[in-house]
Amino acid sequence: MTHQEKAVMLLHQQYHCSQAVLGAFAEDFGLDLPTAFKFSACFGSGMRYSGRCGCMTGALLVLGMSLGFYEAQEQDLEEYGAQKTREFVQRFTERMHGETYCRSMEPDTIGQEGIRQTCLQAVSASIEILEDMLAETPARTSCLCEILEPRSIIRRASELRRFQTRVNGLLHSTSKRIAFIQFDIRQFKIINDLHGEHFGDKILDFVVCQLEVLCRREQLFANLRSDVFMVVMEFDAPEEITELIHQLDERLQWFQNVRLQLSYGVYVVQDLGMEQRQMEDRAAMARKAAKQDILTNIAFYKEQFKESLYNRKFIEENMDKAIAERQIQMYLQPKYSIKQNRIVGAEALVRWVHPSRGMIYPDQFIPIVEENGLIQKIDYYIWEEACWFLGRCKAAGITNCPVSVNMSRCHLCSNSCVQVLTDLIERNGISKQLLELEITETAGGQIRKKAMQLKEEGFTLLMDDFGSGYSSLNILLETPFDVIKLDKKFMENIVASRKGLLILEQVVAMANKLELGLLAEGVETKEQVDLLRSIGCDQVQGYYYAAPMPPDEFYHILVQQYNATA
Ligand code: C2E
Ligand code: CA
Ligand code: CA
Repeated sequence: MTHQEKAVMLLHQQYHCSQAVLGAFAEDFGLDLPTAFKFSACFGSGMRYSGRCGCMTGALLVLGMSLGFYEAQEQDLEEYGAQKTREFVQRFTERMHGETYCRSMEPDTIGQEGIRQTCLQAVSASIEILEDMLAETPARTSCLCEILEPRSIIRRASELRRFQTRVNGLLHSTSKRIAFIQFDIRQFKIINDLHGEHFGDKILDFVVCQLEVLCRREQLFANLRSDVFMVVMEFDAPEEITELIHQLDERLQWFQNVRLQLSYGVYVVQDLGMEQRQMEDRAAMARKAAKQDILTNIAFYKEQFKESLYNRKFIEENMDKAIAERQIQMYLQPKYSIKQNRIVGAEALVRWVHPSRGMIYPDQFIPIVEENGLIQKIDYYIWEEACWFLGRCKAAGITNCPVSVNMSRCHLCSNSCVQVLTDLIERNGISKQLLELEITETAGGQIRKKAMQLKEEGFTLLMDDFGSGYSSLNILLETPFDVIKLDKKFMENIVASRKGLLILEQVVAMANKLELGLLAEGVETKEQVDLLRSIGCDQVQGYYYAAPMPPDEFYHILVQQYNATA
């Protein structure tokens, strides 16, 4: 039976028009008819007092239910609801030619039959408008949010409120201890960019499915926003928390052929009097700390996290200004040839020289700006500085000192970086061979396509941090790199163990066979230099030779070297 048919049937059964309208949609909301009749009769009597047509009462109840007006309301939802109410009233009034007051239709003026006809018309119009509004596409609903589909936001908002209410219930009823576990997917933004948002949504659905399978009734969970999830659980022994996380981690390792890495933050409630919001915030702080820890993906909240959160906020709020005010600077670290004992190149490394905080190193801010996208701005700036520096060297007749720049994995999904690089090369009148690109091997499978494109453009590609990820050899096979940069960890190992040296020897042999350049970074001691020389690795970079320095300083060393050999 259609909504129209149901409503007409109810009207013929002598139900009021408000009951007929809500009754027609009751089943859609899992509401049984007697309850629907009670609701609409109660609300309808209020309306009747003002003389308004009861169809409006019924219809506004239907709209309210479809929007999820169940609990304490949020501003956004409130505004959206008000807009929808206005829309309905306006459309209904138009359809009824302004006749929305029953009082003006006293039986003696239009007769019993007249009322029936008008009521049928009013019921039918309201059903039509409702069906139209409920099926409305995002393009036609303009208020709440232009980016996301309003109905899904509303659904999420009401789901979240329900989740919070249930958590509140658990906090007040349990005799056990409670843990808040917040988790998210590392590099989710990048996965989305690479595979499309539809794929990203499928991953989120997959996570929800796994949570549904894994979590028991009293283990509550919700998708807070984007890729951030929360599980709230009671426990007796702390191992129950890590057990749940491990099980979850197992289930969520892969989605199709994409590896998912999750970061978990845990807050164990100490004081039940604390606001729920604060408990959630602490789990969030722990999650962010877990993200920065390379050894583990689980962190339990500690008081110090507050400080690191402040740091994070500081970076997020001040980075734009830092770029604009040139607090972001390029430093250059020389690369040497052991045999020739001279500079053969340099790596551009970013520094944040803050007026009151002093030098801030990239490890402290790169992971944060990689998340919020500001890394692009920073990298473009450093590339520009590097090209400017190469132009300066060229003007002094020095054309044998390439400068390599780091390329964040974020660029591997962007289309603009190739254009930006070629523009910079042209504008500064330098040769493409002199600007080298370092791509870290931990950027994973996304490297191949972009690397091919850059290679076709004629850039030299360096594989950064070789040996630090888990698929170095695969990437090497698939991607046209020119030079391998051995990760710093190799340097620590070759001195420490015979095995380390053996592996390094094989890497040198492999690089030679594949006709790839090889450069060892993180060289700190004479012992390491001697070992590298003995196995035939000639290019080095590290504190033993020189630390990163301001460009002027590097320029002077370079000019000296140039004059000495000229
Ligand atoms: P990376 O590309 O592996 O850079 C080498 C890092 O090792 C630099 O740290 C450098 O200062 C440091 N280093 C140099 N010699 C030695 C040594 O002998 N021993 C040790 N232990 N370390 C040495 P830095 O400048 O703090 O940069 C850290 C990381 O931040 C870089 O690692 C790179 O991944 C990233 N990064 C730096 N600048 C940029 C940039 O402009 N853009 C992007 N996207 N990432 C950058
Ligand atoms: Ca590098
Ligand atoms: Ca490196």
